[in-house]
Amino acid sequence: MPEQFFHLVEDTVLNIGFDDTDSPKGMCTTYLAYKIVDSLKKEKVEFIDYPKLIRFNPNIPWKTRGNGAVSLKIRTSSPEKIKKKVIRFVTKFSDLKNGANPGVVFFESKAVPDQFTKFSRDALWQLVSRSRAKKFLAENNVDSFHIGNGQGLIGAIGAIGYKFDDHTYELLSYRKRSKFGTKRNIVASSVKQMQESLPKTFNSYDTKKQKVLLAPRGPDPVFFGVRGENVDSVLSASKMIKSDEKPVGHMVFKSNQGTGDHLLNQLDVLSLKPYSSGVITGTVLDEPEMKLGGYVMFSILKQGVKVNCAVYKPTGITQNALNLIKGDVIRVGGGLRKASKNHTRTLNVEFFQVLKLQERKVPANPLCTRCNKRMKSKGRSQGFECVKCGRKKTKKVTMTIPRNLQKRLYIPQSSAHRHLTRPQQRIGITNKESKFDKKIPWFSVY
Ligand code: ATP
Repeated sequence: MPEQFFHLVEDTVLNIGFDDTDSPKGMCTTYLAYKIVDSLKKEKVEFIDYPKLIRFNPNIPWKTRGNGAVSLKIRTSSPEKIKKKVIRFVTKFSDLKNGANPGVVFFESKAVPDQFTKFSRDALWQLVSRSRAKKFLAENNVDSFHIGNGQGLIGAIGAIGYKFDDHTYELLSYRKRSKFGTKRNIVASSVKQMQESLPKTFNSYDTKKQKVLLAPRGPDPVFFGVRGENVDSVLSASKMIKSDEKPVGHMVFKSNQGTGDHLLNQLDVLSLKPYSSGVITGTVLDEPEMKLGGYVMFSILKQGVKVNCAVYKPTGITQNALNLIKGDVIRVGGGLRKASKNHTRTLNVEFFQVLKLQERKVPANPLCTRCNKRMKSKGRSQGFECVKCGRKKTKKVTMTIPRNLQKRLYIPQSSAHRHLTRPQQRIGITNKESKFDKKIPWFSVY
C-alpha cells in the first residue's frame, strides 16, 4: 500500500456515509466504497478505522438486496476537497437510471454523537421515514448530498452512527468490469477446504447442500465475500479460493453481519408496525399447518394479541415448526409483513427458540399393570379387557407421547441466512474489541 495512504495529518476527522447507489441491475455500494478508497490514495488522508458495512432492517420493502450501507472514517487536511470527490464518485457510479436514490452524509468529528447512534439503532429494526432523515440532517446541521428522493440518506446517517456491540469482518473481492454479469467460476472444493481449515470464517460453504455460499449470483461487481471473526482469517481465506478468474482487488469491511442484532429488541404486540423486526415471546395457540408451497403457519398469543407466524421452506426448519403444539412457549424472531388483501399481518420467522414444551397427551386404552400390555376395548361403553389375563378396566386413560422437539434454538440452514442472521457457530460469541491495524492489507488493488 502506498505510504501516503497512512500519512498522519493533524486535522479534521471526517465520517463519510453513503447508500442506495445500486439497483438490481448493477453496481454495489461496497464497490463504490472500494473505488472511493482507491481514489483517496492520491489524497493526504489517514484511515482511522476499517470501512464499515452496516446491514439495516432486512424487512423494509424497497431494499435492493441486503439493505447494506457503508461509512468511512478518515483524517484529512482538506475535507472540502474530499467531499467534492466523494460526491463526484457517487454521481458518476450510482445506477441512477435503474432507480438508485443515493444519499451521502459528511460528519466532521472524531466522536459520533448519540443522536446518530439512536437513528442508526432505529433503522436496524424499524421503518424510518425520509422526512425524519432530512429533519435529522437539518437539526444537527449535518452536511449531505442526495440525488432522487433521498432515500439513501437513511442508510448514510445510520452507517456513520452505528455503534457495535458485536462485529464481524467481510473481505469483498471485486471483478474486472468486463466480467460484470458473467458467471463466476469458483472451485467449490477450494471453498470447502478453506472453510474447514479456517474455522474463524463462516457461511462460505453449505456442507449439507454442497453449495458455495460466498459468491453472489447477480450482475454486481462482487466476485466473492468471505466473512469471519477477524481480519487475519478473511485475508488468509481469500488466498485459498481458487478460480480461473482473477479479481481486481479487495477491501475488508467491519460489519454487523452475522450478529443477529436486528432481532435484539422485544416487539410491542400492542403496537406492531409493519416491516419492523424483533422478537416476541408467546404461547402457541393452535396446531401449525403446512400450506401449499411448503411453508408452515401457526399463531402465538402474547398479552391477549394473536400473532400469525410463517416459517418458509428454504429455512429448513418447517418440520420443527410443524412439531409445535398448542401451549408451547416460544420466542420467535423475525420481521412483520404488512397485512394485504390476501394475507393477514404475519411475522416471517427468522428463528424460534422453544422455552417450554407442553406435554402431549392423547387418550389411550388402559394398561394392564400385571402384563404391561394395553387392554382391548370390549365395544362401545363396555370397558376394556386384557387379552392375556382377563383383567378389566372401565375407563380410557391419557398417555403422554414423547415430543419431537427440544427446548432449544432453531435457526435456518446457512443457505437461507440473511446477512444479519447469527450463524450457529457464532452463538455465544461476541466480538467487542476491535483494533484498526494499519499495516494489515485491508485494501488492495492487485
Ligand atoms: P445492497 O445490499 O446491494 O447494497 P441494498 O439492499 O442496500 O443494496 P439499497 O439500494 O441501498 O439496497 O436500498 C435500501 C434503501 O433503504 C436505502 O435507500 C436506505 O437508505 C434505505 N433504508 C435503510 N434502512 C431503512 C429503514 N430502516 N427504514 C427506511 N429506509 C431504510
